[in-house]
Amino acid sequence: MRKPIIAGNWKMHKTVGEALALVRELCGITAGVADVEIVICPTFTALYPVHLAICEGPLRLGAQNMHWEAQGAFTGEIAPAMVKEVGCTYVIIGHSERRQYFGETDDTVNKKVKAAFANELIPIMCVGETLEQREAGITEGVVGRQVRQGLTGLSAEQVAEMVIAYEPVWAIGTGRTASAEDANAVCRFIRQVVAEITGAESAEKVRIQYGGSVKGENIAELMAKSDIDGALVGGASLDADSFAKIVKFK
Ligand code: PEP
Repeated sequence: MRKPIIAGNWKMHKTVGEALALVRELCGITAGVADVEIVICPTFTALYPVHLAICEGPLRLGAQNMHWEAQGAFTGEIAPAMVKEVGCTYVIIGHSERRQYFGETDDTVNKKVKAAFANELIPIMCVGETLEQREAGITEGVVGRQVRQGLTGLSAEQVAEMVIAYEPVWAIGTGRTASAEDANAVCRFIRQVVAEITGAESAEKVRIQYGGSVKGENIAELMAKSDIDGALVGGASLDADSFAKIVKFK
């Protein structure tokens, strides 16, 4: 049985004060939630204060990005050990906004995924097609390539431990959600690709999230699907009540 995992990607929102206010609300709201792992991913500046404020319970901390090198002359970047040091368990890698606006490629995604494991961080590796690619009927080709290249050189044990987020680019922040059937079909396809790369056991264990305009109203239908193990949530994770409806999907 795969444990559901719901992650909130706060993107470039929330000052430290606002992040602390939100995490305090979430601590209360999520205290009784069992059998669901909940990850919050604030901005870099809020990571440590939020780490100190997180209470006992299902809440875990994640970063939204990091560099793959341990240190060096990389102005403006954050090293994996720095992310680990401030209390992160997870790190989002290769979000479509990073690929689109900051030049991330399947190769840099792969380097970051490996660096995450080298620093005892669990990567949430994002993949997904654009609207043009979906309409051209090449979703599986695009997503299959992203998964294969992203997982290059990883062991079956590492893949079993990580999280893959399927996020169709056209559904992120647009209010357009993929239908639960379509989302599940791509998540199932990702699991098949994982099975080809590192074997059936790792494919059975890897957790696959759907992301793209997830809300309280659509989470139950998505989570009922066979190959969807959680959600990566942007906009609806910025408000405690909206996020609470998602993490309490059962
Ligand atoms: C995201 O940022 O990963 C995301 C899915 O955003 P939203 O939920 O706002 O579509």
